Amino acid sequence: MAPLLEIQHRDPGSRARTGVLNLAHGQVRTPAFVPLATKGTIKGLEPREVRALGYDMVLGNTFHLFLAPGHELVKDQGGLHEFMRWEEPIITDSGGFQVFSMGHGTVADEIKGRAPSGSDRAGAILGIEEEGVRFRSYIDGGERFMAPETSMEVQAALGSDIALAFDECTPFHVTREYTERSTERTHRWLDRCIAWHDEHQPVGQALYSISQGGVYEDLRRAATRHVAQTRAPGVAIGGSLGADKPQMYEVVDWATDELERVAPDKPRHLLGIGEVDDLVRGVELGIDTFDCAMPTRIGRHGMALVPDPSRRWRIDLTKGRMKQAKEPIMEDCPCPACSQGFTRAYLHYLFGAHELTALRLVTLHNLAFIARLMADLRGAIATGTLPQVAAAIRAGAAPGALATAAA
Ligand SMILES: [Zn+2]
Repeated sequence: MAPLLEIQHRDPGSRARTGVLNLAHGQVRTPAFVPLATKGTIKGLEPREVRALGYDMVLGNTFHLFLAPGHELVKDQGGLHEFMRWEEPIITDSGGFQVFSMGHGTVADEIKGRAPSGSDRAGAILGIEEEGVRFRSYIDGGERFMAPETSMEVQAALGSDIALAFDECTPFHVTREYTERSTERTHRWLDRCIAWHDEHQPVGQALYSISQGGVYEDLRRAATRHVAQTRAPGVAIGGSLGADKPQMYEVVDWATDELERVAPDKPRHLLGIGEVDDLVRGVELGIDTFDCAMPTRIGRHGMALVPDPSRRWRIDLTKGRMKQAKEPIMEDCPCPACSQGFTRAYLHYLFGAHELTALRLVTLHNLAFIARLMADLRGAIATGTLPQVAAAIRAGAAPGALATAAA
């Protein structure tokens, strides 16, 4: 049987590696960016369009699909692949991030010894217990409960290729003591996820553990070692990664340094990170897959990705200076928006008129940009040119065949 991650090339100067993830619904070329299909769709696009951009895997959201339409319904419809008509691999998150995100305020209040506030609003967290988490549904206000076993059961019903263990996602501002206690609970929850997975053996599903430990070096390193040494065949890096980019890179560096030591062959997923410079740094630090709302979310708000580090790789098409701009978002971009010659002025007008076509075109452009960036990074690792290609991207080179140009 092929290994879960087949590493084909390693960069001699960093922890970067390229290869393929062998999953039940096909292979994923790594390092890869994974677009979000949060509620069972990449907002505005059809699966074949996402595939044509060069994506091998999408991410479905356990928390949202649990609340609506419900995992039993999705299972009855043949599973998430069949339901959303995406035939390639799917990764599902555990639901932990969403459950704990909506409770950040309440959790913080509890830690500071204040009475919980806002717990009566829809989507509030009601209690974190050893058994699991009680929360209020943002859809109907009803009380719901999610335990590690619930998360596993939902992900098994969805039929994803990769399931993530249920974890407590601690916010940035919690204390070290809270982070330590929470991380220990996450490890007990991981044991329960592994036990559930062993007992029910969902067909064709690989379970990833999640490394927590916050921004504390000893906690993050110990947590990463702990989860990497369990039977879960992959590891995701989650939780608070810091207040800014330098701190985030440092936290990821601690985690992949430990992984390189104790589980060098296990695939590594970095949760919720996906800006252009973060993807380049993450690849150098040895991350195999990334997911992030950024390219699709900013696209829907009129922001398009361009090779310009001084503007954080983006332009705002809704700004007045775009009103008469005759050029496409990006010259020589093969995406459906630029290759058909739609001008910045046209997209500016469409956003102003709230036309859905604008959202679609910019989402297609942004996903095409990131897909080509990842292809460049994979090619660079394979041809031994990662330092040059990474430097070129950071300096503002347009993605697309950079690796072959550098080689
Ligand atoms: Zn384009």
